[in-house]
Amino acid sequence: MNDYLLRAQDLRDELVAWRRDFHRHPELGFEEHRTAAIVAGHLQKLGIETTTGVGKTGVVGLIEGVRPGPTVLLRVDMDALPVHEATGLPFASETPGKMHACGHDGHTAIGMGVAQMLAETSANWPGCVKLLFQPAEEGLGGALATIASGVLQNPAPDMCFGLHLWNPLPAGRVIVQPGPFMAAADHFEVSIRGRGAHGAQPELAVDAILVAAEAVGMLHTIVSRNLPPQETAVLSVGSFHAGKAFNVIAEEAIFDGTLRTFDAAVRDRLIERMQAILAGVCQAYEAAFDLRFFDYTPAVDNDLIATRIALAAATEVVGAEALLQITPLMVAEDMSEIMNRVPGCYIMVGADPGTEGRGTHHNPRFDIDEAQLPVAAAILAATAVRFLEQGQSGTGSSMKQGERP
Ligand SMILES: [Zn+2]
Ligand SMILES: [Zn+2]
Repeated sequence: MNDYLLRAQDLRDELVAWRRDFHRHPELGFEEHRTAAIVAGHLQKLGIETTTGVGKTGVVGLIEGVRPGPTVLLRVDMDALPVHEATGLPFASETPGKMHACGHDGHTAIGMGVAQMLAETSANWPGCVKLLFQPAEEGLGGALATIASGVLQNPAPDMCFGLHLWNPLPAGRVIVQPGPFMAAADHFEVSIRGRGAHGAQPELAVDAILVAAEAVGMLHTIVSRNLPPQETAVLSVGSFHAGKAFNVIAEEAIFDGTLRTFDAAVRDRLIERMQAILAGVCQAYEAAFDLRFFDYTPAVDNDLIATRIALAAATEVVGAEALLQITPLMVAEDMSEIMNRVPGCYIMVGADPGTEGRGTHHNPRFDIDEAQLPVAAAILAATAVRFLEQGQSGTGSSMKQGERP
């Protein structure tokens, strides 16, 4: 068995205890004060140089190897979600309305286990491991906040790795694959302004509902008619609000939604067509519009060399038969902000607990298979050491979808 897996299996009780403690005390993005204090206390006890307050509530631990060499950044996230837990587990959330419903409690525990293992073996490898416990992954900009507070400097990492416990994947299966892996996400909002009037006098009105409804229908033709069929994209309208009374023609309609893309040119084309369709529809009906974008998260694009390193380490830990390839996921992950600046690889570790209804992320009944905590910790630690021993830097680019080897 791989040395890191052996050691991680020894740490299994600690990993589970840490995870259950974080699960019992979930904290939302940028509020991870208790979690960060426990992480920092653990790192300091191990003699690891520790910085707190990184990106507000993040923690960074710096583990120096036996001689100078490259730096690898390992990133885990710590935040919970505004979900009211309904698992009935003995270690369920004690805070109403907050829950670790994505597995970040497990990620924090994994990071602590990795810290322990790498602190123990630091006399055996060169270079430096920078362990980032990131706040606020769930749409709040935690990765950017840690970058703004200098996590990519002193020392600057040469490569980065992160992982997610992933329930759509059977427990024990692992994904390490090159190229586009998780989609870029945009939140867009459209407001259409017409002219309100009495419902019985449409000739005096510009009906914002009619214009917006037409626009929503037409926006859905972009993916099917303006993109090459080989490209992947999603445009979904998630909310639509207009009107206040049955006999008043609405003056304004507002709808918003999300875009998911893997390729910057595809995203540019989508946005360009959205502008053109909205301008055309509004001109036809004598209305006006505003199109605004918020909360952009870039795509996770796994660097080829980083992926090879992680793949070799994961193969050692779980065996080649446990590895799986999938089509890229439409969900987003803000580790991409770091991976846009430092070549890296994002790994998925299957953690489906196998209990009916416990498998869905962000669901009130979500749970993970705790047996995967040591597996994930071993993969991350083994990947870091393999990189440091090889000392290779990334390609700085990755393959486009469909160009996989
Ligand atoms: Zn999530
Ligand atoms: Zn997550």
